[in-house]
Amino acid sequence: MADFKEFGDKACSFAKNMADKANDAVEVQKLKAKIRDCRNEIDDIYSSIGASIYNRYKEDDTVDAEYLDPCGSIDEKYEEIAELNDKIDIIKGCMRCPNCQAPVNTGDAFCSKCGRPL
Ligand SMILES: [Zn+2]
Repeated sequence: MADFKEFGDKACSFAKNMADKANDAVEVQKLKAKIRDCRNEIDDIYSSIGASIYNRYKEDDTVDAEYLDPCGSIDEKYEEIAELNDKIDIIKGCMRCPNCQAPVNTGDAFCSKCGRPL
């Protein structure tokens, strides 16, 4: 009888242990989610620091020399985005003025920006 009780106690302790482990796993997941949130917030702050340096570069070029190359790379990426947007415009059938590249509507007789006949 003592053996049976001991087995019961062990089974009970095993089940409690499993429940604890499941709770621990949930708790760890919650903590990891909070860590992810903190990392995302840090990335946002890094991003805003970078944006303020880039804005200074665009306004008056008074950034430290070490930032000139990365800021130039951002300029190149913005140019690439503009070219990609142009390709999307072409696919969607939007027209551009051949003189000034302003977007014009199909059927317009003149460019509304530079006045060139279309
Ligand atoms: Zn034009």
